[in-house]
Amino acid sequence: MPEAPPDLAAGIALADSVAVDPHKWLYAPLEAGCTLVRDRQALIDAFAYRPPYYHLPEGQTNFYELGPQNSRGFRALKVWLALRQAGRSGYVRMIGDDCRLAAALHAHVSRHPELEAATLSLSIATFRYVPRDLRAAGPKAADYLNTHNETLLARLKLGGEVFVTNAVVDGRFLLRACIVNFRTTDADVAAIPEMVARAGRAVDAELRPGRND
Ligand SMILES: *Cc1c(COP(=O)(O)O)cnc(C)c1O
Repeated sequence: MPEAPPDLAAGIALADSVAVDPHKWLYAPLEAGCTLVRDRQALIDAFAYRPPYYHLPEGQTNFYELGPQNSRGFRALKVWLALRQAGRSGYVRMIGDDCRLAAALHAHVSRHPELEAATLSLSIATFRYVPRDLRAAGPKAADYLNTHNETLLARLKLGGEVFVTNAVVDGRFLLRACIVNFRTTDADVAAIPEMVARAGRAVDAELRPGRND
């Protein structure tokens, strides 16, 4: 399985702290945020307090000293259990699968006559609907395509078949598919282009009545 190209993560080595969301790409159930720090003492210096009525032994880990929360749920348990269950190799495979599926989606979209593929990075593919008669229209179709795809996105979100969000790249309003579920399959991503095109056609018919192919 392909791992992330090393240059995408190279800057992390320079960071003093890195925030990650285990409920994203570590597949933990909502919610679990996580900060990885180079110098644990910096957290203690910032957050620890020891009022006289706290009788806590020295020399053991008191998590309230490492962050702003005192009473807290045991969020780390679900993250730890998943790490134990899947292991490094499991995460390499699951994340690699997500990246591969995003690339497959991008390729499917590229082949679809009514869709225009845009960016592909990690497990995110962006694209938009472009009616056939506007494919070669250039800048004069720009505003219409933005309005169309914004309407299309709202329609897709309410439709219940596929959930994409949006991105704006160089002024183009794009649909953004981010695959972070280890249950997503090749069949799922293969089905997305036609779902989007079908909805896109319907939106076009409403926004430009009588102008469709
Ligand atoms: C996840 C995410 C958010 C929301 O962060 P949460 O910690 O899940 O609430 C906002 N923006 C982007 C780009 C994200 O990926």
